[in-house]
Amino acid sequence: MICYVSCCVRNKSDYKNPQRVKGSPDFRRGVCRPPSGAVRHAFCAAASTRTLGAQTDGEGAILAQAGFLYIALNAASGIFFCIFINKDGDDMLDICLPGTGGTVPKLDRFLSCCYLRYNGIGLLIDCGEGTQLSVKKSGFSLAKINIILLTHFHADHCSGLPGLLLSMGNEGHTEPLIIAGPPGVGEIVKSLTRIAQELPFRIVTREMTDFDYFESFGYCITAFELKHSCQCLGYDIRIKRNGKFNVSKAKKNGVPMRYWNRLQKGECVEEFTPDMVLGEPRRGIHVTFATDTRPCDIISTMASDADLLICEGMFEHEKLARAKESFHMTMKEAAVLAKESGCSELWLTHYSPALPDPSVCFNEALEVFDKAVLSSDGQIKTIYFENDD
Ligand SMILES: [Zn+2]
Ligand SMILES: [Zn+2]
Repeated sequence: MICYVSCCVRNKSDYKNPQRVKGSPDFRRGVCRPPSGAVRHAFCAAASTRTLGAQTDGEGAILAQAGFLYIALNAASGIFFCIFINKDGDDMLDICLPGTGGTVPKLDRFLSCCYLRYNGIGLLIDCGEGTQLSVKKSGFSLAKINIILLTHFHADHCSGLPGLLLSMGNEGHTEPLIIAGPPGVGEIVKSLTRIAQELPFRIVTREMTDFDYFESFGYCITAFELKHSCQCLGYDIRIKRNGKFNVSKAKKNGVPMRYWNRLQKGECVEEFTPDMVLGEPRRGIHVTFATDTRPCDIISTMASDADLLICEGMFEHEKLARAKESFHMTMKEAAVLAKESGCSELWLTHYSPALPDPSVCFNEALEVFDKAVLSSDGQIKTIYFENDD
């Protein structure tokens, strides 16, 4: 786990808006150091919580956003010292929905997409118009995106690709980029990049169909077919977790001590393999993503035991006929799938433009599955590996 610590003095409105603090032009590591006692106080506060999402006011208050903790030390005076800790680690997955709209972007709602960040590497699912803006607004890096998964080729899920790729290039992305999607993804990417030429990175496309699987940068990705008006894929994403290092096993297998560290990190060294020093694999992190689709059993099967199911909840249940005709689903239908799956949490997304305030029908979902969350643009959380100490 890597921690960066920065301090700045801000007024109350900046304190209330962590992103503004983070992105402010005079934000510099070490600028305006608070007294050392205050720093210690902040570290104590940070160390004593792993619960992100709390937003409270007062001395030592913690504002949390993904891997960032913002700590206000002196709320009473109106002057704030904020400690910024970026825990860009390999024991957690950040998940964000920069946009939650379906069909067309709205002035107050970007198009549906999902940004995952593991070990500093970004994975983006879908890329409708304006996605380069919604990702930046959510505070995530375009330059760090190494994988893009497209669910299908309706414009609200892929037409933002040229702008996003150009912005990634402008922000310094140079590594090869994987773009995976249903059959035809190569042709779609080729067409869209005709207006985004001379990118400073190579694009590798990958066609996926039902239950195709690949691993990249620690993401273990399985595609599964959904029921939409065109071929459409859901994605099941897992972060594996190795077993604990087992000294007696390493000794028993005659593994030289100088290789222990590399083997523990999953590397093979000469004839030695990680399983010769590690115990049984432990539970990792599991997220399932499904838009656009009618309800189908495969969604609850894939999301079985998931930490998070992200699923479309496009319509109120009154519009069930419309949902069927357009191959989408209602919030209630999404909640039924979540309940069947046994997932820990459901995030609804991809709201119809005809539903300006999705909260009016959210109860329909909540009554079925009480771990349902009515996502809005910028919805964010961090999932950690289970603490098994
Ligand atoms: Zn859509
Ligand atoms: Zn669609």
